Amino acid sequence: MLKKIETKTFDVVVVGAGITGIYQVYVLRNMGFTVQGYEGGEDVGGTWYWNRYPGCRLDTESYAYGYFALTGIIPEWKWSERFAGQPEMLRYVNHAADRMDVRRSYQFSTRVVRADWNDSTNMWDLELSDQGRVSCRYLISAVGPLSATRMPNIAGIERFEGESFHTSRWPRDPDDPRGARKIDFAGKRVGVIGTGATGVQIIPIVARTAAELFVFQRSPNWCTPLGNHPISDQEMEKLQAAYEEILAFVKSTPTAFPYNRHPKKASETTAEERQALFESLYSMPGYGIWLSGYRDVLLSRTSNGYLAEFIAGKIRQRVKDPVIAGKLIPRDHPFGTKRVPMETNYYETYNRPNVHLVDVRETPITCVTPRGLQVGSKHYDLDIIIYATGFDAVTGSFDQIDIRGKDGLSLKETWQDGPLTYLGLQTRGFPNFFTLVGPHNGATFCNVGVCGALQVEWVSEMLGYMREHDLTYSEASHVAQEDWTRQVYEDFSRTLLTEADAWWIKVKVHPDGTRERRALVHVSGGPEYREICDEVAADGYAGFELH
Ligand code: FAD
Ligand code: NAP
Repeated sequence: MLKKIETKTFDVVVVGAGITGIYQVYVLRNMGFTVQGYEGGEDVGGTWYWNRYPGCRLDTESYAYGYFALTGIIPEWKWSERFAGQPEMLRYVNHAADRMDVRRSYQFSTRVVRADWNDSTNMWDLELSDQGRVSCRYLISAVGPLSATRMPNIAGIERFEGESFHTSRWPRDPDDPRGARKIDFAGKRVGVIGTGATGVQIIPIVARTAAELFVFQRSPNWCTPLGNHPISDQEMEKLQAAYEEILAFVKSTPTAFPYNRHPKKASETTAEERQALFESLYSMPGYGIWLSGYRDVLLSRTSNGYLAEFIAGKIRQRVKDPVIAGKLIPRDHPFGTKRVPMETNYYETYNRPNVHLVDVRETPITCVTPRGLQVGSKHYDLDIIIYATGFDAVTGSFDQIDIRGKDGLSLKETWQDGPLTYLGLQTRGFPNFFTLVGPHNGATFCNVGVCGALQVEWVSEMLGYMREHDLTYSEASHVAQEDWTRQVYEDFSRTLLTEADAWWIKVKVHPDGTRERRALVHVSGGPEYREICDEVAADGYAGFELH
């Protein structure tokens, strides 16, 4: 006789136990909703759980990223560094999860693999990786913009006989589930593929001990100094006392980083003024050089060119070999149109005799062999290969779930030419499905610690409003979705961001072969985004069909 499988039912299912997901569980549970979370990893942490590679750390100031402290969940937390490393970040998220007591609401090591909207019950029916099935009124994804690992499409990867790792699936310490396995590079020939923010963090560390390090670079990035330093107890006390002001300030800036744009355009300044500003920003810790520069840096090629030339000059000063320096200077995108990797001795690393830059733009990697990498006619013998090749960003984690809305509509197909959303929070045809820090969403091109939390609070209020008004169904209206999607593309198209293949764009290839870069994110700034969301809420959630 077949055993009857029982389907559990919840008000809300939250997918993901990163900083966003666990806060969403906490807030809704406190409001009296029945909430169940699912997480593919064995524990909380998301980004900070998965990315255990040596050198992984924040590029946002720790105290400004920590929404838990800002909202009073763990105000006692003392940051040890201005830009916390991954081990500290993971401890922090774990501590917050303890404080919020969220683990009891999660099932770990379990992925949501399919979600079907059920028209007869007005609920979502979910299928889990452990064969379990559950139903929920509201489905909230907190699957992360940078959580679907991307391996490169290179033949022979599985044939390599040495050790190989993707940075976001770095092995764990077998004796400590929260630690990373220590990989000894001493005496080894190591290859790193990828020079994005991750590659730029790991390369200088591997270089210190590896016998030989080969960096396989396809595109150089504009990298600027991180300037990390310890935070003393006195400094921490001052920061803690100022948390309210810090939160107010980051909420007022476009990206929720603690930086505001310079009031002037570069065209309103002299060469001497520009040099002085760039020098002072370059010597400051953090993203000032990107986010406090002239306000037209991402709008005017001339303004951008001044800063790019300044950074190129720094690269030429720091790298002794002019040919290598030349290869490290980007030519294919303006400064700041990809996320700027923050570096610590990255450029000086190329002055070391054991470090070799291999230009795989000139000659692409042909294949992985059992003993290393074949690049054109040259073979590189390697003991370890590190894939720092990034993520299938923003939509990748959604694509891994078979999400079917009304009439079996597939989310993946609906978004195949670029996402269609309202506020980056819902897609028509997928009622009661909210996408935190998702595509076209103001929290994704932002300091996620803060912007993700603010979004959690907004969605929670909407669910509270619906409950109060006996409403159980919400769906983005056709018009609201069209307007939002058009606005996101138009805002993006006015910036220089259209000139780079950053992770936040999707390339649409038209039938005539032309390539169009479409935004995966909302780039008009957090304050503007939240103002719109607040107006929508004040107007009874205008743009959503509610009943
Ligand atoms: P995540 O932390 O990505 O968590 C999503 C979780 O969902 C993951 O644990 C994943 O396993 C789970 N999941 C996905 N799909 C499923 C499924 N189908 N079923 C079950 N579980 C699922 N942002 C900043 O603002 N500042 C920084 O300094 C910064 N540094 C970063 C450094 C690195 C190395 C990376 C990769 C990203 C960084 N980011 C930074 C962006 C970062 O992703 C966010 O800051 C933030 O951690 C995202 O949190 P999240 O909870 O939204 O998503
Ligand atoms: P990424 O920026 O997408 O970089 C991936 C790198 O791999 C690129 O250099 C890419 O080259 C290269 N690559 C991919 N496939 C390749 C192939 N087949 N052959 C050769 N090279 C290949 O990914 P990431 O470095 O992991 O960073 C992603 C984002 O995560 C960052 O932008 C940032 O938002 C976040 N992050 C933040 C920090 C931090 O400092 N806090 C650290 C790490 C990550 P192309 O550019 O030519 O495609």
